[in-house]
Amino acid sequence: MATIWFYNIPYHGHINPTLPLVRELVRRGDAVTYFAGPAFEERIRATGAEYRSYGNLDAFGQSRDSSHLIHQGALVAESANALLDEVLAAVEEERPDLLMFDMSAPWGSIASRRFGIPAIGSFPHLPFYWRTMLDDRRVFRKAMASLRPGLGHWRALGRQTVNMAREHSLRNPADVNVLSSAAELNIVFLTRYFQPYASHFDDSYVYVGPTIDTTRPETPMEIRKGPGQKLIYIAVGTLYRANLAFFQACMAAFADPAYAVIMSVGKAVDPEALGQIPDNFTVAQFVPQLQVLRAADVFITHGGMNSINEAVAYGVPMVVVPNTVEQSINAARLEQLQCGLYLDHAKLSVETLQASVIRLLTDPATSSGLGRLRTSFEEAGGAPLAADVIGQFKEQHGIG
Ligand code: UDP
Repeated sequence: MATIWFYNIPYHGHINPTLPLVRELVRRGDAVTYFAGPAFEERIRATGAEYRSYGNLDAFGQSRDSSHLIHQGALVAESANALLDEVLAAVEEERPDLLMFDMSAPWGSIASRRFGIPAIGSFPHLPFYWRTMLDDRRVFRKAMASLRPGLGHWRALGRQTVNMAREHSLRNPADVNVLSSAAELNIVFLTRYFQPYASHFDDSYVYVGPTIDTTRPETPMEIRKGPGQKLIYIAVGTLYRANLAFFQACMAAFADPAYAVIMSVGKAVDPEALGQIPDNFTVAQFVPQLQVLRAADVFITHGGMNSINEAVAYGVPMVVVPNTVEQSINAARLEQLQCGLYLDHAKLSVETLQASVIRLLTDPATSSGLGRLRTSFEEAGGAPLAADVIGQFKEQHGIG
Protein backbone atom coordinates (compact mmCIF):
# COMPACT_ATOMS: atom_id res chain seq x y z
CA MET A 1 0.00 0.00 0.00
CA ALA A 2 1.33 3.42 -0.93
CA THR A 3 0.04 6.94 -0.41
CA ILE A 4 -0.11 8.57 -3.81
CA TRP A 5 -0.91 12.25 -4.38
CA PHE A 6 -2.13 13.13 -7.86
CA TYR A 7 -2.07 16.77 -9.01
CA ASN A 8 -4.23 17.74 -11.96
CA ILE A 9 -5.76 20.82 -13.59
CA PRO A 10 -9.55 21.21 -13.82
CA TYR A 11 -10.01 20.13 -17.44
CA HIS A 12 -12.16 17.19 -18.51
CA GLY A 13 -9.55 16.35 -21.11
CA HIS A 14 -6.78 16.02 -18.52
CA ILE A 15 -8.79 14.32 -15.78
CA ASN A 16 -10.98 11.85 -17.72
CA PRO A 17 -8.22 9.45 -18.85
CA THR A 18 -6.69 9.29 -15.37
CA LEU A 19 -9.81 8.17 -13.50
CA PRO A 20 -9.86 4.51 -14.63
CA LEU A 21 -6.18 4.31 -13.60
CA VAL A 22 -6.91 5.85 -10.19
CA ARG A 23 -9.77 3.36 -9.72
CA GLU A 24 -7.37 0.53 -10.55
CA LEU A 25 -4.70 1.80 -8.13
CA VAL A 26 -7.29 2.05 -5.35
CA ARG A 27 -8.55 -1.46 -6.19
CA ARG A 28 -4.97 -2.74 -5.82
CA GLY A 29 -4.73 -1.17 -2.36
CA ASP A 30 -3.13 2.26 -2.79
CA ALA A 31 -4.47 5.30 -0.94
CA VAL A 32 -4.83 7.94 -3.65
CA THR A 33 -5.46 11.61 -2.90
CA TYR A 34 -6.47 13.56 -6.00
CA PHE A 35 -6.15 17.35 -6.27
CA ALA A 36 -8.42 19.08 -8.80
CA GLY A 37 -11.25 21.61 -9.05
CA PRO A 38 -14.55 21.14 -7.19
CA ALA A 39 -16.45 20.34 -10.40
CA PHE A 40 -14.67 16.98 -10.43
CA GLU A 41 -15.12 16.07 -6.76
CA GLU A 42 -17.95 13.60 -7.24
CA ARG A 43 -16.30 11.72 -10.09
CA ILE A 44 -12.99 11.53 -8.24
CA ARG A 45 -14.62 10.21 -5.08
CA ALA A 46 -16.45 7.60 -7.17
CA THR A 47 -13.06 6.01 -8.00
CA GLY A 48 -12.42 5.44 -4.29
CA ALA A 49 -9.78 8.19 -4.12
CA GLU A 50 -9.84 11.01 -1.61
CA TYR A 51 -10.64 14.35 -3.24
CA ARG A 52 -8.94 17.60 -2.18
CA SER A 53 -9.37 21.02 -3.70
CA TYR A 54 -6.36 23.29 -3.86
CA GLY A 55 -5.60 26.93 -4.52
CA ASN A 56 -7.81 28.85 -6.86
CA LEU A 57 -8.04 27.18 -10.26
CA ASP A 58 -10.74 29.51 -11.63
CA ALA A 59 -8.37 30.92 -14.25
CA PHE A 60 -8.45 27.56 -16.04
CA GLY A 61 -12.18 28.05 -16.60
CA GLN A 62 -11.64 31.06 -18.85
CA SER A 63 -12.01 30.51 -22.57
CA ARG A 64 -8.89 30.50 -24.71
CA ASP A 65 -7.81 32.89 -27.39
CA SER A 66 -5.83 32.36 -30.57
CA SER A 67 -2.48 32.74 -28.82
CA HIS A 68 -3.37 29.52 -27.08
CA LEU A 69 0.12 28.14 -26.45
CA ILE A 70 1.28 31.30 -24.72
CA HIS A 71 -2.02 31.67 -22.92
CA GLN A 72 -1.88 28.10 -21.66
CA GLY A 73 1.79 28.36 -20.65
CA ALA A 74 1.17 31.64 -18.84
CA LEU A 75 -1.85 30.19 -17.10
CA VAL A 76 0.19 27.24 -15.88
CA ALA A 77 3.10 29.46 -14.75
CA GLU A 78 0.78 31.84 -12.88
CA SER A 79 -1.02 28.94 -11.27
CA ALA A 80 2.29 27.39 -10.26
CA ASN A 81 3.31 30.66 -8.60
CA ALA A 82 0.00 30.89 -6.80
CA LEU A 83 -0.16 27.24 -5.72
CA LEU A 84 3.41 26.36 -4.86
CA ASP A 85 3.50 27.51 -1.24
CA GLU A 86 0.38 25.56 -0.42
CA VAL A 87 1.49 22.47 -2.36
CA LEU A 88 4.99 22.42 -0.88
CA ALA A 89 3.74 22.95 2.69
CA ALA A 90 1.28 20.06 2.40
CA VAL A 91 3.81 17.70 0.81
CA GLU A 92 6.42 18.58 3.43
CA GLU A 93 3.98 17.98 6.25
CA GLU A 94 2.31 14.76 5.07
CA ARG A 95 5.09 13.23 2.97
CA PRO A 96 3.18 11.04 0.50
CA ASP A 97 5.14 8.05 -0.85
CA LEU A 98 4.66 8.95 -4.48
CA LEU A 99 3.58 12.02 -6.47
CA MET A 100 1.77 11.96 -9.78
CA PHE A 101 1.19 15.09 -11.81
CA ASP A 102 -0.38 16.07 -15.09
CA MET A 103 1.88 17.37 -17.91
CA SER A 104 0.43 20.85 -17.18
CA ALA A 105 0.90 20.70 -13.40
CA PRO A 106 4.65 21.37 -12.92
CA TRP A 107 4.12 22.11 -9.21
CA GLY A 108 4.02 18.31 -8.76
CA SER A 109 7.44 18.07 -10.41
CA ILE A 110 8.83 20.88 -8.24
CA ALA A 111 7.53 19.26 -5.03
CA SER A 112 9.00 15.92 -6.06
CA ARG A 113 12.46 17.38 -6.68
CA ARG A 114 12.36 19.59 -3.61
CA PHE A 115 11.58 16.73 -1.19
CA GLY A 116 13.13 13.82 -3.10
CA ILE A 117 9.78 12.05 -3.51
CA PRO A 118 9.57 9.78 -6.57
CA ALA A 119 7.16 11.07 -9.20
CA ILE A 120 5.24 9.92 -12.25
CA GLY A 121 3.97 12.17 -15.05
CA SER A 122 0.54 11.86 -16.65
CA PHE A 123 0.13 12.67 -20.36
CA PRO A 124 -3.45 12.81 -21.61
CA HIS A 125 -2.12 14.47 -24.79
CA LEU A 126 0.87 13.85 -27.03
CA PRO A 127 4.10 14.81 -25.24
CA PHE A 128 5.35 17.97 -26.91
CA TYR A 129 8.15 17.67 -29.48
CA TRP A 130 8.99 20.71 -31.60
CA ARG A 131 9.72 18.78 -34.82
CA THR A 132 6.08 17.73 -35.00
CA MET A 133 5.29 21.36 -35.81
CA LEU A 134 7.53 21.48 -38.89
CA ASP A 135 6.25 18.56 -40.94
CA ASP A 136 2.86 19.81 -42.00
CA ARG A 137 2.33 23.26 -43.51
CA ARG A 138 -1.03 23.64 -41.76
CA VAL A 139 0.44 22.75 -38.37
CA PHE A 140 3.36 25.11 -38.92
CA ARG A 141 1.06 27.99 -39.87
CA LYS A 142 -1.12 27.30 -36.86
CA ALA A 143 1.93 27.24 -34.59
CA MET A 144 3.23 30.54 -35.99
CA ALA A 145 -0.18 32.19 -35.72
CA SER A 146 -0.44 30.92 -32.17
CA LEU A 147 3.02 32.08 -31.12
CA ARG A 148 3.25 35.44 -32.89
CA PRO A 149 0.74 37.45 -30.83
CA GLY A 150 2.40 36.43 -27.60
CA LEU A 151 6.13 36.44 -28.35
CA GLY A 152 6.77 39.20 -25.80
CA HIS A 153 4.93 37.18 -23.19
CA TRP A 154 6.85 34.09 -24.22
CA ARG A 155 10.12 35.68 -23.18
CA ALA A 156 8.54 36.84 -19.93
CA LEU A 157 7.29 33.33 -19.40
CA GLY A 158 10.79 31.95 -19.93
CA ARG A 159 12.15 34.33 -17.32
CA GLN A 160 9.36 33.40 -14.94
CA THR A 161 10.08 29.67 -15.18
CA VAL A 162 13.84 30.22 -14.75
CA ASN A 163 13.13 32.28 -11.62
CA MET A 164 10.80 29.63 -10.31
CA ALA A 165 13.43 26.93 -10.84
CA ARG A 166 16.03 29.08 -9.07
CA GLU A 167 13.73 29.87 -6.17
CA HIS A 168 13.11 26.19 -5.58
CA SER A 169 16.75 25.22 -5.98
CA LEU A 170 16.17 23.15 -9.11
CA ARG A 171 19.38 22.53 -10.98
CA ASN A 172 17.80 22.50 -14.41
CA PRO A 173 15.30 25.24 -15.40
CA ALA A 174 13.76 22.71 -17.82
CA ASP A 175 12.45 20.95 -14.73
CA VAL A 176 9.80 23.66 -14.67
CA ASN A 177 8.16 22.89 -17.98
CA VAL A 178 4.82 24.65 -18.32
CA LEU A 179 3.73 22.78 -21.46
CA SER A 180 4.97 19.23 -21.08
CA SER A 181 6.11 18.50 -17.55
CA ALA A 182 7.69 15.06 -17.37
CA ALA A 183 9.03 12.82 -14.60
CA GLU A 184 11.27 9.78 -14.22
CA LEU A 185 8.32 7.67 -15.44
CA ASN A 186 5.49 8.98 -17.60
CA ILE A 187 2.16 7.38 -18.37
CA VAL A 188 0.91 8.43 -21.82
CA PHE A 189 -2.76 7.73 -22.50
CA LEU A 190 -2.10 7.19 -26.21
CA THR A 191 -0.28 4.61 -28.31
CA ARG A 192 3.18 4.74 -29.85
CA TYR A 193 1.43 4.09 -33.17
CA PHE A 194 -0.34 7.44 -32.81
CA GLN A 195 2.77 9.28 -31.55
CA PRO A 196 4.64 11.12 -34.34
CA TYR A 197 8.43 10.74 -33.92
CA ALA A 198 7.77 7.94 -31.44
CA SER A 199 11.48 7.01 -31.29
CA HIS A 200 12.23 10.43 -29.77
CA PHE A 201 10.49 9.25 -26.59
CA ASP A 202 12.45 6.68 -24.59
CA ASP A 203 11.16 3.94 -22.27
CA SER A 204 10.43 6.42 -19.52
CA TYR A 205 7.31 7.16 -21.59
CA VAL A 206 4.95 4.21 -21.29
CA TYR A 207 2.12 4.34 -23.82
CA VAL A 208 -0.87 2.58 -22.27
CA GLY A 209 -3.48 3.77 -24.75
CA PRO A 210 -6.63 5.75 -24.04
CA THR A 211 -8.58 4.71 -20.97
CA ILE A 212 -12.08 5.70 -21.95
CA ASP A 213 -14.53 5.28 -19.14
CA THR A 214 -17.49 4.01 -21.15
CA THR A 215 -19.47 3.65 -17.93
CA ARG A 216 -19.18 7.32 -17.05
CA PRO A 217 -22.59 8.78 -16.08
CA GLU A 218 -24.28 10.58 -18.96
CA THR A 219 -27.74 12.09 -19.14
CA PRO A 220 -29.24 10.25 -22.12
CA MET A 221 -30.80 12.15 -25.01
CA GLU A 222 -33.27 11.22 -27.72
CA ILE A 223 -31.45 10.64 -31.01
CA ARG A 224 -33.68 11.53 -33.96
CA LYS A 225 -32.41 9.54 -36.92
CA GLY A 226 -34.78 8.46 -39.69
CA PRO A 227 -34.31 5.37 -41.88
CA GLY A 228 -31.52 5.88 -44.42
CA GLN A 229 -30.28 9.06 -42.74
CA LYS A 230 -26.62 9.41 -41.81
CA LEU A 231 -25.97 10.85 -38.38
CA ILE A 232 -23.46 13.71 -38.23
CA TYR A 233 -22.25 14.72 -34.78
CA ILE A 234 -20.68 18.18 -34.40
CA ALA A 235 -18.92 19.21 -31.18
CA VAL A 236 -16.03 21.41 -30.15
CA GLY A 237 -15.11 20.20 -26.66
CA THR A 238 -15.54 22.04 -23.41
CA LEU A 239 -13.06 24.93 -23.68
CA TYR A 240 -13.70 26.50 -27.03
CA ARG A 241 -14.63 30.15 -27.32
CA ALA A 242 -17.88 30.82 -29.17
CA ASN A 243 -17.61 30.81 -32.95
CA LEU A 244 -21.07 31.33 -34.38
CA ALA A 245 -19.77 31.38 -37.95
CA PHE A 246 -18.50 27.79 -37.61
CA PHE A 247 -21.84 26.47 -36.37
CA GLN A 248 -23.76 28.49 -38.94
CA ALA A 249 -21.60 27.09 -41.75
CA CYS A 250 -22.41 23.59 -40.45
CA MET A 251 -26.13 24.43 -40.43
CA ALA A 252 -25.97 25.72 -43.99
CA ALA A 253 -23.97 22.67 -45.14
CA PHE A 254 -26.14 19.95 -43.61
CA ALA A 255 -29.71 21.28 -43.70
CA ASP A 256 -30.41 18.26 -45.86
CA PRO A 257 -32.83 15.37 -45.12
CA ALA A 258 -30.08 12.89 -46.06
CA TYR A 259 -28.59 13.71 -42.66
CA ALA A 260 -29.66 13.84 -39.03
CA VAL A 261 -27.38 16.24 -37.15
CA ILE A 262 -26.62 16.63 -33.46
CA MET A 263 -24.64 19.77 -32.67
CA SER A 264 -23.13 20.45 -29.24
CA VAL A 265 -22.29 24.16 -29.20
CA GLY A 266 -20.74 24.53 -25.73
CA LYS A 267 -21.66 26.75 -22.82
CA ALA A 268 -20.36 29.92 -24.49
CA VAL A 269 -22.98 29.77 -27.26
CA ASP A 270 -26.65 30.50 -26.76
CA PRO A 271 -28.47 28.24 -29.27
CA GLU A 272 -30.97 31.12 -29.77
CA ALA A 273 -28.14 33.21 -31.25
CA LEU A 274 -27.65 30.74 -34.11
CA GLY A 275 -30.75 31.87 -35.98
CA GLN A 276 -33.16 29.49 -37.68
CA ILE A 277 -32.14 25.93 -36.78
CA PRO A 278 -32.88 23.41 -39.58
CA ASP A 279 -35.48 20.71 -38.79
CA ASN A 280 -32.96 17.89 -39.10
CA PHE A 281 -30.70 19.48 -36.41
CA THR A 282 -30.76 18.89 -32.64
CA VAL A 283 -28.75 21.64 -30.93
CA ALA A 284 -27.66 21.62 -27.27
CA GLN A 285 -24.92 23.17 -25.17
CA PHE A 286 -23.74 19.77 -23.94
CA VAL A 287 -24.74 16.28 -25.07
CA PRO A 288 -23.97 12.73 -23.89
CA GLN A 289 -21.05 12.34 -26.28
CA LEU A 290 -20.49 8.61 -25.82
CA GLN A 291 -24.15 7.84 -26.51
CA VAL A 292 -24.11 10.06 -29.60
CA LEU A 293 -20.84 8.65 -30.94
CA ARG A 294 -22.19 5.13 -30.63
CA ALA A 295 -24.83 6.10 -33.20
CA ALA A 296 -22.84 8.59 -35.33
CA ASP A 297 -21.57 8.04 -38.89
CA VAL A 298 -19.27 11.09 -39.01
CA PHE A 299 -17.90 13.41 -36.32
CA ILE A 300 -17.00 17.03 -37.00
CA THR A 301 -14.71 17.89 -34.11
CA HIS A 302 -12.16 20.43 -32.87
CA GLY A 303 -9.72 17.55 -32.39
CA GLY A 304 -9.48 17.43 -28.59
CA MET A 305 -7.66 14.28 -27.52
CA ASN A 306 -10.58 12.76 -25.64
CA SER A 307 -13.00 13.39 -28.46
CA ILE A 308 -10.61 11.73 -30.91
CA ASN A 309 -10.04 8.71 -28.69
CA GLU A 310 -13.75 8.29 -28.09
CA ALA A 311 -14.51 8.51 -31.82
CA VAL A 312 -11.80 5.96 -32.63
CA ALA A 313 -13.19 3.61 -29.96
CA TYR A 314 -16.57 3.70 -31.72
CA GLY A 315 -15.08 3.64 -35.24
CA VAL A 316 -16.38 7.08 -36.25
CA PRO A 317 -14.36 8.95 -38.92
CA MET A 318 -13.58 12.59 -38.19
CA VAL A 319 -13.47 15.91 -39.95
CA VAL A 320 -11.11 17.81 -37.66
CA VAL A 321 -11.32 21.62 -37.62
CA PRO A 322 -8.60 22.42 -35.08
CA ASN A 323 -8.33 25.56 -32.97
CA THR A 324 -5.07 25.05 -31.12
CA VAL A 325 -1.63 23.82 -32.10
CA GLU A 326 -1.96 20.49 -30.36
CA GLN A 327 -5.35 19.90 -31.97
CA SER A 328 -3.76 20.73 -35.29
CA ILE A 329 -0.99 18.15 -34.65
CA ASN A 330 -3.73 15.62 -33.84
CA ALA A 331 -5.62 16.50 -37.03
CA ALA A 332 -2.54 16.05 -39.22
CA ARG A 333 -1.72 12.73 -37.57
CA LEU A 334 -5.29 11.43 -37.99
CA GLU A 335 -5.19 12.34 -41.66
CA GLN A 336 -1.81 10.59 -42.06
CA LEU A 337 -3.24 7.45 -40.45
CA GLN A 338 -6.34 7.67 -42.70
CA CYS A 339 -8.77 8.13 -39.84
CA GLY A 340 -10.14 11.48 -40.90
CA LEU A 341 -9.54 14.77 -42.67
CA TYR A 342 -7.90 17.99 -41.53
CA LEU A 343 -10.11 20.96 -42.45
CA ASP A 344 -8.45 24.29 -41.79
CA HIS A 345 -10.64 27.12 -40.44
CA ALA A 346 -9.32 29.22 -43.34
CA LYS A 347 -10.75 26.69 -45.83
CA LEU A 348 -14.02 26.18 -44.00
CA SER A 349 -17.08 26.65 -46.22
CA VAL A 350 -20.36 24.95 -46.96
CA GLU A 351 -18.69 23.18 -49.90
CA THR A 352 -15.58 21.95 -48.05
CA LEU A 353 -17.70 20.71 -45.15
CA GLN A 354 -20.02 18.81 -47.46
CA ALA A 355 -17.18 17.38 -49.55
CA SER A 356 -15.27 16.23 -46.43
CA VAL A 357 -18.28 14.43 -44.99
CA ILE A 358 -19.11 12.73 -48.30
CA ARG A 359 -15.50 11.63 -48.70
CA LEU A 360 -15.42 10.07 -45.25
CA LEU A 361 -18.75 8.31 -45.77
CA THR A 362 -17.62 6.76 -49.04
CA ASP A 363 -13.87 6.14 -48.70
CA PRO A 364 -13.13 2.53 -47.63
CA ALA A 365 -9.54 3.50 -46.67
CA THR A 366 -10.91 5.47 -43.73
CA SER A 367 -12.58 2.50 -42.16
CA SER A 368 -9.35 0.44 -42.50
CA GLY A 369 -7.34 3.33 -41.03
CA LEU A 370 -9.70 3.61 -38.10
CA GLY A 371 -9.55 -0.15 -37.61
CA ARG A 372 -5.73 -0.05 -37.36
CA LEU A 373 -5.74 2.80 -34.84
CA ARG A 374 -8.51 1.18 -32.83
CA THR A 375 -6.55 -2.09 -32.70
CA SER A 376 -3.50 -0.21 -31.42
CA PHE A 377 -5.71 1.26 -28.68
CA GLU A 378 -7.25 -2.10 -27.77
CA GLU A 379 -3.89 -3.83 -27.56
CA ALA A 380 -2.16 -1.09 -25.57
CA GLY A 381 -2.87 -2.38 -22.06
CA GLY A 382 -4.84 0.55 -20.61
CA ALA A 383 -5.25 1.17 -16.89
CA PRO A 384 -4.13 -2.36 -15.81
CA LEU A 385 -0.80 -1.92 -17.67
CA ALA A 386 -0.35 1.57 -16.18
CA ALA A 387 -1.00 0.15 -12.70
CA ASP A 388 1.49 -2.70 -13.33
CA VAL A 389 4.18 -0.24 -14.41
CA ILE A 390 3.48 1.96 -11.40
CA GLY A 391 3.72 -1.19 -9.23
CA GLN A 392 7.21 -1.92 -10.65
CA PHE A 393 8.22 1.71 -10.13
CA LYS A 394 7.13 1.48 -6.48
CA GLU A 395 9.21 -1.69 -6.03
CA GLN A 396 12.27 -0.04 -7.60
CA HIS A 397 11.91 2.83 -5.14
CA GLY A 398 11.13 0.62 -2.14
CA ILE A 399 7.64 2.08 -1.75
CA GLY A 400 4.65 0.27 -0.23
N1 UDP B 1 -18.05 16.19 -24.03
C1 UDP B 1 -19.33 15.70 -23.80
N2 UDP B 1 -20.38 16.36 -24.35
C2 UDP B 1 -20.26 17.47 -25.11
C3 UDP B 1 -18.95 17.97 -25.36
C4 UDP B 1 -17.88 17.29 -24.81
O1 UDP B 1 -19.50 14.68 -23.12
O2 UDP B 1 -21.28 18.02 -25.55
C5 UDP B 1 -16.90 15.47 -23.45
C6 UDP B 1 -16.22 14.61 -24.49
O3 UDP B 1 -16.81 13.32 -24.53
C7 UDP B 1 -14.77 14.58 -24.03
C8 UDP B 1 -14.59 15.91 -23.31
O4 UDP B 1 -15.91 16.41 -23.04
O5 UDP B 1 -14.56 13.50 -23.12
C9 UDP B 1 -13.85 16.94 -24.15
O6 UDP B 1 -12.50 16.63 -24.15
P1 UDP B 1 -11.59 16.95 -25.40
O7 UDP B 1 -10.20 16.54 -25.04
O8 UDP B 1 -12.15 16.34 -26.62
O9 UDP B 1 -11.73 18.51 -25.61
P2 UDP B 1 -11.42 19.77 -24.66
O10 UDP B 1 -12.70 20.06 -23.95
O11 UDP B 1 -10.30 19.36 -23.71
O12 UDP B 1 -11.03 20.83 -25.64
